[in-house]
Amino acid sequence: MIPVAEPLVTEHDIELVNEALATGWISSAGKFLDQFEERWAAYCGMPHGIAVSNGSVALDIAVELLGLEAGDEVIMPSFTIISPAQSVVRAGGIPVLVDSDPGNWQMDVSQIEAKLTPRTRAILVVHIYGHPADMDPVLALARKHGLKVIEDAAEVHGAKYRGRTCGGLADISTFSFYANKLVTTGEGGMVLVRTAELAERARSLRNLCFQKKQRFLHEELGYNFRLTNLQAALGVAQIERMEQIVERKRAIAALYLELLRGTEGISLPIEEPWARNVYWVFGLVLDQATGLDAAALAGRLREKGIETRPFFLGMHEQPVFGKMGLFAGENYPVAERLARQGLYVPTGLTITDQEIHQVAQAVREGIR
Ligand SMILES: *Cc1c(COP(=O)(O)O)cnc(C)c1O
Repeated sequence: MIPVAEPLVTEHDIELVNEALATGWISSAGKFLDQFEERWAAYCGMPHGIAVSNGSVALDIAVELLGLEAGDEVIMPSFTIISPAQSVVRAGGIPVLVDSDPGNWQMDVSQIEAKLTPRTRAILVVHIYGHPADMDPVLALARKHGLKVIEDAAEVHGAKYRGRTCGGLADISTFSFYANKLVTTGEGGMVLVRTAELAERARSLRNLCFQKKQRFLHEELGYNFRLTNLQAALGVAQIERMEQIVERKRAIAALYLELLRGTEGISLPIEEPWARNVYWVFGLVLDQATGLDAAALAGRLREKGIETRPFFLGMHEQPVFGKMGLFAGENYPVAERLARQGLYVPTGLTITDQEIHQVAQAVREGIR
């Protein structure tokens, strides 16, 4: 099987993890944690980084920093992983959805204004599959209406929007360093914020809201969302070769584009003139005219030893939210089509050019 994503662990990664082991700093303090937070925040152009145990809890903290009251609304795309929506629901807020742009698959930001109400508190942008969402109109709307903006940048490590690095564009940003992300610590995440106050609050929430003066006196309920120094060592090693990682992802995508461009019946990822796409994954969207859906193509590829993943299923189609009475009767046609017609093919950092040729040929044959 050609796996859809396999992490690349280098000698240098192993060296740094071994150093953490040898020094005994294996828990949630140590020099690699400090370096990981500082260097990732600096890479993204943000002043403060708070490392946490995964990308989903990074969103829990980011949303908690908004201080939502019950019934407050947060605008986000329907077409996303569930993490940002569940963070908002768990904080007592209501996700308010918008559809996706059919060309770049990002949140269609032109639909946001019509969704604003007196209860809107924030816009939570989820950059999808390596390409940035169109941020300037989002930031302008937020300024005009006094809203906060969160970027879920889990899928866009190193991507750029009009020359600015994703995760450095808004008030708060979050990252995942899960095994299939560009930078991976196995499991891991980070919250980036702009003010020392928010950073301190995020650090407190991460660590059970222990207090500095009297450790076991609690004014608030927190969580144990700590990352370990062992995991951070992996992160530090990878930040050092960040440009290499991005270049390889772009080269993988360029080869797929060369081999698949012009294939009838599929749409391929695009790169807007204002964007640097890091091609976290390489998606294919089947034309409905082919009579094939993504599940059918996935089956044909599996028979040829190629693993794929389906695209996200929109939040408005999730039974769990339906049972809560959310999104009743709402339709987002682009998200619905992407969910049924979209899948992504192997692009892990360990993939070879020969394997890419093999996958591209199987895709062409599979569509016929
Ligand atoms: C991977 C991902 C997450 C969740 O991260 P975990 O570390 O798996 O919890 C959140 N948002 C997006 C957009 C992701 O791709």
